Amino acid sequence: MRAGEFELIDKIRRRANVGPEIRLGIGDDCSSIVVPPNYELLTSTDLLLEGVHFCLDWTDLFSLGIKSVAVNISDLAAMGAKPVSLHLAVGLPANFSDEQVEQFLNGVFAGLECYEVSLVGGDTCRSEGPLVISATVQGICHKDQVITRGGAGAGDDLWVSGTLGDSGLALHFLQMNRPLSAFLAERHYRPEARVVLGQRLAIENLATAMLDLSDGLNGDLSHLLRASTVGARVELERLPLSNEFKDELRIDQSLFDLALCGGEDYELLFTAKPAMRDLLEQLSVEMNLSLSRIGEITSTPEFDLVMASGLIYQPQISAFDHFGSTKDKSRE
Ligand SMILES: [Mg+2]
Repeated sequence: MRAGEFELIDKIRRRANVGPEIRLGIGDDCSSIVVPPNYELLTSTDLLLEGVHFCLDWTDLFSLGIKSVAVNISDLAAMGAKPVSLHLAVGLPANFSDEQVEQFLNGVFAGLECYEVSLVGGDTCRSEGPLVISATVQGICHKDQVITRGGAGAGDDLWVSGTLGDSGLALHFLQMNRPLSAFLAERHYRPEARVVLGQRLAIENLATAMLDLSDGLNGDLSHLLRASTVGARVELERLPLSNEFKDELRIDQSLFDLALCGGEDYELLFTAKPAMRDLLEQLSVEMNLSLSRIGEITSTPEFDLVMASGLIYQPQISAFDHFGSTKDKSRE
């Protein structure tokens, strides 16, 4: 038997820390957040559905809790915002035990602690079907520092943080029943939202446009280009790949498409003026996080993936599709 809803909410409320920006947290009809003068409140929602976005045969509930927080926070990072609060709504399957609920919540609270975010509200109910998780995050950013997708101009450099394709490679292995290395498991189950990088780029005015990579470089770059009404030339030999990804690539070249379309990288893709190169390289060293210049923005709306030979590359798989279903489940 599982604890009643009120008991569960009370339990959650006792665990919820309240940061300085929160005027009202859990317990009133609404939460209330104090936004400092000249700051804007940024809000983003994500829906995670069992069987669509995650599979409980592969995913432990603690990791799922952390990931539910991180993938939402990643959208705030993508605009240069400082994360402040999270609202969480969950539909818990009727057969879930108290221990399973506890494991999931432990993961959620670990994620909140990691990003110093307050849980300020939400809802819970019993689901007759799968586990349903909906999280809404809010963050603040100075009104002059918000980085949108629409600011890229011709001649800007195109940059990406971290490495690409690791999470997609992990999912590929899981689907083939292959065990994951600690590195790939971390990249897939516990992605890290690049909040510090996002805020540094915003505060230091280093980027002209930005988004986070949830569906893969190929699809997400096209969103940025459309919003900025520009094109791009991406040099494929510059794509940052982990050693583990490169090792697998030596065995099977076709895995390369996972770096373009694998999804769930949660790295930041951004554009910057060429004059910022030195500053960005310094930032990379300071943060101990790789920042790779992978191409440039062009005025013509075309988007070319250029191989070392100079020929244009065409990926064999298109945008990230979680478990191969045809429904549109793209995540912003
Ligand atoms: Mg996003």
